[in-house]
Amino acid sequence: MAQRKQRCRKRGSCWGWIRIIGVAITLYLVFVQLPMVIDQRLNAVMHPPPYAVSPAMAKVHNSLWIADLHADSLLWHRDLSQRHPRGHVDLPRLQQANVALQAFTVVTQIPSNLKLAGNDSRSDDILKLALIQRWPPSTWNSLLERALYQAKQLQQLAAQSSGEFRLVQTQADLQALIQDRKQQPQLTAGILGLEGVQALQGRVENVDRIYAAGFRMLGLAHFFDTEVGGSVHGLRQGGLTALGRQVVLRSQQQHLLLDLAHSSPAVIDEVVAMSTQPVVVSHTGVQGTCNNLRNLSDSQIRAIADTGGVIGIGFWSTAVCGEDAGAIAAAIRYTADLVGVNHVSLGSDFDGAVQMPFDVTGLPLITAALQAEGFTPDEIGKIMGLNILRVLKNVLLP
Ligand SMILES: [Zn+2]
Repeated sequence: MAQRKQRCRKRGSCWGWIRIIGVAITLYLVFVQLPMVIDQRLNAVMHPPPYAVSPAMAKVHNSLWIADLHADSLLWHRDLSQRHPRGHVDLPRLQQANVALQAFTVVTQIPSNLKLAGNDSRSDDILKLALIQRWPPSTWNSLLERALYQAKQLQQLAAQSSGEFRLVQTQADLQALIQDRKQQPQLTAGILGLEGVQALQGRVENVDRIYAAGFRMLGLAHFFDTEVGGSVHGLRQGGLTALGRQVVLRSQQQHLLLDLAHSSPAVIDEVVAMSTQPVVVSHTGVQGTCNNLRNLSDSQIRAIADTGGVIGIGFWSTAVCGEDAGAIAAAIRYTADLVGVNHVSLGSDFDGAVQMPFDVTGLPLITAALQAEGFTPDEIGKIMGLNILRVLKNVLLP
């Protein structure tokens, strides 16, 4: 030790080494550890797996064709091909949960200090995430690039999955998925959705860009009002603008499925009035079981159902005013009683920076809770996935 000190003094290099080691540790903490800590904190589960159901219930669950309308998993620094002890979704866990189709919804801008209402677009927490997660510089200032980057991540997951995961873009893809799962039950697919049209950056032509990148679902709002229309969490919460009407028309010409989650009541009314195709609300609660601004009123539920669409019931506590599968099943029961069982589905919001009662491997608990709610096996099949399949078959190009 004394010798080394001597050497250091002689060469004057010890402080240099200490600095280099300090910088290396800081870089490791900021760019490797911090993204994982943030993911773990924001996407926590109340009860860690495994989740026990009876063998009979597991058999019922494994016979279903399961789909979910909303997961923000692409946002986080997590290799989705591997099983992780944090977050809610990855490929091994989707396979374990017998999920046939998961919507991967892409987030591009979140204001700081989020409120239920009254947010504006001046702050940008996703920029901070992009920096510490080492996203390419093109994503730092472009919301469209953030969307395209995340879409590319999902394409890569499919390309590197040895045929275990694929992206669905057409009716033919859906048909092939249904067919191939009969031989290969572990086969899982994703469909790309965009959460909020801020990523279009005010240009209707960008609808074509995101379509070309593989997106097939377009959420018209997220946490703030845009040039397209109002968010239920925005400052003015207005209706569609002239650009907004163009975006709706262009999206439906392109056979993009419109998603009205987070949209202002005025946007919901206007879109269902002008829609020529079924529309969805990918992740929501219903005011009938959980009364808050974000959740759908009875008349909104009826309007969505009238388009032939579905309402994806979310799993987080302010969606269903509860913290278990029973509360989720109760919201599904309410919706089914109001508009029929054909118009309600799963819309978890897994990995959406919300605490969940369970990760995706807990889906059998929902199957069990639906049975406890008195749904028949046919009805459970529709709720757990076949309703989403019907809507997608209706909207996607052949
Ligand atoms: Zn959301």
